[in-house]
Amino acid sequence: MGNEQEFQDLLQLIAPDPDELHQRLDFLDWSQADQECLMLRAEQVHQANQRFVETFYQQLAHYPIAAAILGDPAVSERLKQRQAEYYQRLWQGQLDEAYVLERLRIGWVHHRTGVDLKWYLGAYRLYLDQLLKHLLNDSAAVACFSSLVKKVFFDIGLALDSYGAAQRKALQDSEERYARAMRGANDGLWEWQLEQDQLYLSERWVRMLDLDRDSLEPTSHSWFSRVHGDDLPGLRQAIDNHLRGITPFLHHEYRIRRRDGSYLWVLVRGVADTCSSGLRRIAGSQTDISQRRSAQEQLHHAARHDPLTGLANRARLSELLQQAVQQRQRPGARETALLFIDLDRFKLINDSLGHQTGDRVLVEVARRLRQCLRPGDQLARFGGDEFVALLTDLACMNDAERVAQRMLDALHIPLYLHEQTLSVSASIGIAALQESGEPLDPLQAADLALYRAKKAGKAQFARYSIELQQQTQRQLALQNALAQAGERGELYLVYQPICRLQDDQSQLTAVEALLRWRHEGRDISPLEFIPSLEESGGIINVGDWVLREACSQVRSWQKLGLPHLRCSVNLSSRQLQQNDFAARVADILQQTGLPPDSLVLEITESQLMADNAQNLACLRELASLGIQLALDDFGTGYSSLGYLKRFPLHIIKVDKSFIAGAPHDTESRAISRAIIGLGQSLGLTVVAEGVERQAQLDFLNHEGCHYAQGYWFSRPRTPLAMQRLLSGEDCFDGLWCRLDEQALEVPV
Ligand code: C2E
Ligand code: MG
Ligand code: MG
Repeated sequence: MGNEQEFQDLLQLIAPDPDELHQRLDFLDWSQADQECLMLRAEQVHQANQRFVETFYQQLAHYPIAAAILGDPAVSERLKQRQAEYYQRLWQGQLDEAYVLERLRIGWVHHRTGVDLKWYLGAYRLYLDQLLKHLLNDSAAVACFSSLVKKVFFDIGLALDSYGAAQRKALQDSEERYARAMRGANDGLWEWQLEQDQLYLSERWVRMLDLDRDSLEPTSHSWFSRVHGDDLPGLRQAIDNHLRGITPFLHHEYRIRRRDGSYLWVLVRGVADTCSSGLRRIAGSQTDISQRRSAQEQLHHAARHDPLTGLANRARLSELLQQAVQQRQRPGARETALLFIDLDRFKLINDSLGHQTGDRVLVEVARRLRQCLRPGDQLARFGGDEFVALLTDLACMNDAERVAQRMLDALHIPLYLHEQTLSVSASIGIAALQESGEPLDPLQAADLALYRAKKAGKAQFARYSIELQQQTQRQLALQNALAQAGERGELYLVYQPICRLQDDQSQLTAVEALLRWRHEGRDISPLEFIPSLEESGGIINVGDWVLREACSQVRSWQKLGLPHLRCSVNLSSRQLQQNDFAARVADILQQTGLPPDSLVLEITESQLMADNAQNLACLRELASLGIQLALDDFGTGYSSLGYLKRFPLHIIKVDKSFIAGAPHDTESRAISRAIIGLGQSLGLTVVAEGVERQAQLDFLNHEGCHYAQGYWFSRPRTPLAMQRLLSGEDCFDGLWCRLDEQALEVPV
């Protein structure tokens, strides 16, 4: 069966096309008449044919190869029989398809058994020679013709040599061209016979891996055993998909092991087919793509890392987070924490020392943070001066706090950069990944905790909790409500008396306007909502309203018979930073009719800290209008005495925290005394804030402080309650005071 298949394969190659056969016969001038002519004489030559077979076999016996085969009489007899049958068919058989097929089959059998073409030529020549002699009688002419036939047949042999050689050469050229192209393409070639598991690998395929072809077994084991363990299932799947017709080609990238154990990225391409015997094979090429892969990997890396610190960037962080969330869901997984780290006052370093120094600080900070982590943990640069650490496999969340503390400690050590010593600190927010019922995503939760750490004074860590979130939500809700507080008429002013101290009795000389927000039935302290207003910028409009309201209120009290009553109004730094602020104040004074010297504007030390030219110019302009300027809460801020000289100040207000301790606490007493002395020696009016007890009043009197404010005299009052005090209907909460025109002298 296998032999028959081989013959059928050969037929495919020869492809005996009827047109071509006709043309051949036509070229030989063959016609039916020739066939009839042969058939007519078939009987006559029968004897001659038999004789020839005998003569031929006798002659063959002279050649050792043939003699060996013909030694067996049975074989010899069978072969003679076949040959005789052939001659019969030669003379009598029609030149049809069966005839051609029979001839081709005999040719194939002879080729297989090693019968060379020269035997064919020899046999035919001899046969024609014999037949000619039989048919013709002129022996001399026959001899000549016979010689001719010999030469012609020899020539045919030579022609066949040339043809065969030319064909072989064409094949060789084509093979060489193919080999050259393959060398140029630098690809390895392979062919795998699936059923027999026979693998052919080209020289280049093998050399790509620094291997030696002879040392490889010609089975697929030589290939698959070298494929990277992570890539093998993918490669098998790709081959399988192609074999099952899901993909039109095999096209797959994977890693394969070289002789030295390193892995090479390759692209395998191939296509499967089924040969005529029904056996499947798949063949193709393999290309070294390691350079492209490494360029791709570099790009991939660059897109996911921060060039300055080399840390993962935000894009990479979100991948890492996703992985961490998945891992966290596995049974038995331990805690995972997210640390949001933000440098404190980094902008100051950048602005004052330049971005280059800022960059160096970031690199050093990144290095120190990384040192605080275990190998499995991840650190990313989230942006500017923000970093995020992802801590996995923690026994408990307290471990995250320990890492955060290590980070704070590591940053605490001063940085030495180019002969400069810098100190940095950071605030850290900590959140657990996937705490049950957590409404926030972990990054937001850590950010919220960070905000809390910053608010609580920086250089510390804070942990996210549901309470923290609720509190923030409340703050947010409050902020939203605050934006509409003005329109809803929820804002109002209260006034607190400021008194001139005299031995026998104190006299009310001024009032400080204090802002209140009445929201949902409760009064909210300005300490709570003014920072929000400052943050949102709402303080500008609210501040204008306060100023106008206070000026017009005090002006109306002045008109009631207290023409020297002064009005103190608190300012926030955002107001001072407006270009036209002084002009607006002037407008308000004009519209309300309050004389400029009746207005005191209170600013705090931290506002002066900003110390920019805009602030100074604005304060000078205000002073030039005749407005008094007071430095509020003195002693609580940076207390640089330089301010007192540089800014056009008239009044300093000693912060209530010092008065609260006086006179019993020695430190508070000493500070209060120093501030009072300082103010007086600079020619400034000193007002003590937060006086609540007689002893404090006595102390102030003794120190020569002439003005005071506090619950001892009165808590802040509504305009109506204030009016009752001013008109004499009410008396001071602490000390009864007669209000007469004389008592309301200007304090300075
Ligand atoms: P401040 O300007 O130092 O105002 C004095 C604060 O001390 C007031 O608190 C007042 O109620 C409180 N106080 C007065 N006497 C005593 C006392 O004897 N003991 C104690 N413990 N406290 C006393 P308040 O009204 O809560 O205002 C707090 C701060 O809010 C003010 O401090 C001021 O800085 C700011 N503020 C108030 N109103 C405004 C405003 O209209 N604009 C701006 N920008 N800030 C304002
Ligand atoms: Mg004040
Ligand atoms: Mg104050």
